[in-house]
Amino acid sequence: MKVTEHIKNANGKTLFSFEIVPPQKGQNIQDLYNNVDPLMEFKPPFIDVTTSREEYVYIKKENGLLEQKMTRMRPGTVGICAALKYKYDVDAIPHVLCGGFTKEETEYVLVDCHYLGLDNIMALRGDAMKHEPYFVPTPGGNEYAVDLVDQIRELNQGKYLHNIIETTNRPDFCIGVAGYPEKHLESPSMDADLRRLKEKVDAGADYVVTQMFFDNSKYFNFVEKARKIGITVPIIPGIKPVAVKRHQQILPQIFRLDMPEDLISAIEGCKDNVQVRQVGIEWAIQQSKELMAHGAPVVHFYSMGKSDNIKAIAKEIF
Ligand code: FAD
Repeated sequence: MKVTEHIKNANGKTLFSFEIVPPQKGQNIQDLYNNVDPLMEFKPPFIDVTTSREEYVYIKKENGLLEQKMTRMRPGTVGICAALKYKYDVDAIPHVLCGGFTKEETEYVLVDCHYLGLDNIMALRGDAMKHEPYFVPTPGGNEYAVDLVDQIRELNQGKYLHNIIETTNRPDFCIGVAGYPEKHLESPSMDADLRRLKEKVDAGADYVVTQMFFDNSKYFNFVEKARKIGITVPIIPGIKPVAVKRHQQILPQIFRLDMPEDLISAIEGCKDNVQVRQVGIEWAIQQSKELMAHGAPVVHFYSMGKSDNIKAIAKEIF
C-alpha cells in the first residue's frame, strides 16, 4: 500500500516507521531480522531500506602493492525490501539514488520493484562519494532528485526511456523525497532549498521525509514555510536518537544541523556511552510526544543498526 494511503487510513493517528541499512556484503541477513523483529510489535506500516554509494576499497596484491577497486559495500536494497515484505507483510521502501546509476540502470531497478509488488520509492540524489569533495552526477544518470522523480512519474505513465515502450500496464509508485528542516548543506539559503523541494513535489513527489533534527521548532518552522509556498503533501519528521558521545561532533558535521544546548549538556554529563544512549532515548521520546501532539502523520526513526533504543522509544509512545 502507498505511504499516503497508510496516512489517510490512520485518520489523524500518528504512525510509527523506521529506516534500516543493509548489512555489509558477506554478513548474514539474520542480523538484520534480529533488529527488525523487536520493532514489529509496534506495527510499522512501512520500513525504509537505504542504498549506499559505491566506494573505493584497496586490495593488497602479491607484490605488496595496493589495487584500487570500486564497489558497493552494502548492496541488496531491493532484495531486502522483497524479503521484508514477504516475511513481515509490511510495505518496504527502497531508497533509489541518482548517484552511481545511469538512467537505464535506474529503470531496471524500478522494473524489479514493480515486479516485486513494491508500491513506494524514496527518490534521492545521494551524497558525494567518500573521496569526492562534492556530488558528481553519474554520466547518463539523473543529476538531481527532481530528475529521478520525473523518471519515476514517466514510468507511472507507462513511458519507458527513449520512448521505446508506451504501455497501459504500468506501475503506480508513490514517491517520497527528502526535506531539510535546517536546509540542505549545499543550498545557499533555506528559501532556495524549499523552492527545490517544491519542484520535487510539483514533479510528482507524494510525500516528504525530513533529515534528522533535534529541535522540534526547526521542523515546525519548516512545515509552516513549506505550506506557505504551496507544498501540501505529508511531511514526515525523521528522528535519530543520539547513541554515542561522538554523535555530538559527527552529526552536526555531516548533516550541518544544530543541537540544542540542553541536549549537549546532557550528553556532556554522561560518563559513558550507555548513559548517552539513555539520554538519546529520553530526548527522542520527548521529541516524538511533541510531534505527535502537533499532528505529525508519522514519526520515522533512523535506526542505523541496533534497534534496542528505537524499541525503548516506541514502547513509551505507541
Ligand atoms: P536534491 O533534492 O537533488 O538536492 C540536492 C541539493 O541540490 C540541494 O542543496 C538542493 O537545494 C539543490 N538542488 C536541487 N535541485 C536543483 C537544481 N535543479 N539546480 C540546482 N540545485 C538544485 N543518501 C544516500 O546515499 N542513501 C540513502 O539511502 C539516503 N537516504 C536518505 C533518506 C532521507 C529521509 C534523507 C533526508 C536523506 C537521505 N540520504 C541518503 C541523503 C541524501 O542523498 C543527501 O542529503 C543528498 O546530498 C541530497 O539528496 P536529495 O535527494 O535531497 O537531493
